[in-house]
Amino acid sequence: MFKERYFPSSRLKDWLTAHTIETEIIGSSELGKPIHAIRIGEGPVRILMWSQMHGNESTTTRGLLIWLEKYLQYPTYQEELSLLIIPQLNPDGADKYTRANGKGIDLNRDALIQSQSEIKVLMRIVEEFRPHYNLNLHDQRTRFTVGDTNKEAALSFLSASADETRKITSTRIAAMRLINHMVSSLPNNFKMHIGRYDDAFNPNCTGDYFHAKGIPTVLFEAGQLGKDYTRIEVASIIAQCLSNLLEFLSKPIPEQSDEAILKEYGEISENRTNSYDELVISEKHQFYVRYIEVLVNNQIDTIFEFTSYDQVDLSLVNLRQILDYRKGTSEEQQLIRLRLSQYLENE
Ligand SMILES: [Zn+2]
Repeated sequence: MFKERYFPSSRLKDWLTAHTIETEIIGSSELGKPIHAIRIGEGPVRILMWSQMHGNESTTTRGLLIWLEKYLQYPTYQEELSLLIIPQLNPDGADKYTRANGKGIDLNRDALIQSQSEIKVLMRIVEEFRPHYNLNLHDQRTRFTVGDTNKEAALSFLSASADETRKITSTRIAAMRLINHMVSSLPNNFKMHIGRYDDAFNPNCTGDYFHAKGIPTVLFEAGQLGKDYTRIEVASIIAQCLSNLLEFLSKPIPEQSDEAILKEYGEISENRTNSYDELVISEKHQFYVRYIEVLVNNQIDTIFEFTSYDQVDLSLVNLRQILDYRKGTSEEQQLIRLRLSQYLENE
């Protein structure tokens, strides 16, 4: 059920029905589809989370549901936490497998103007629910590496800036502390795959907007581990992160100085853009390929983005596959000829 990256509103609805989960319709999308929310617990610490604000970013939604499925078998901390979960803020984009909503607007650039109904719904919920913490759940593209390590970033975080000076506020510190806790709780062999986004301020982004308003907001960006194009492994990591984080928030938070929090957060390497799906080596040309998934007839198809070999320092590059014409099987040689013709067409 969770293996496919295409996760339209019908699949969410089927899942909710199959698990007899009661939802509340908190509003509708620009094209009139319902936006569902799930409420859990009646505790004093209020946590709001939303996923698939970008419709084609389903990994965190799938992770959220994996966590929820387990959680509902042994529900805990209902007296400590109040959760409000919006599993799919952008159902129109989810159905079309687009980042943007039904009107072609990027909802994560609409926080200030609030022109779209999905963002209006989110803002109204924030006003009514008054969260102590927001979890802003996304997918990142496969292009990212962790610092200069040539390891792919399979999960990234950000505690966004609250203004142009990027000064460290108590709100930013609070979000960093949650990120630090999640990173420290993950298995060691996954830690080398965790990156951090740079904190250039953009008040149109929801994280920056809420940080300016003083609500700690953690940006999650689920990526891809190795050749797992379904991202199901990272969806499970997201489920673990949520479980660890909610457990942490259900207890008194231990004392830690701002300096120590900042230092620990700073130790997460900033992302670079050196990850590629293929290096193609033909007789005369060498180039990198990135996959871009698009929806064709209700199925995910792949188109390609090319980068010439001499533009990138190979020692910093993360590669999922090397296709070398001299060493390839006849099948691989055929694939290389196809890629080469696409590359030359693109040049
Ligand atoms: Zn996103």
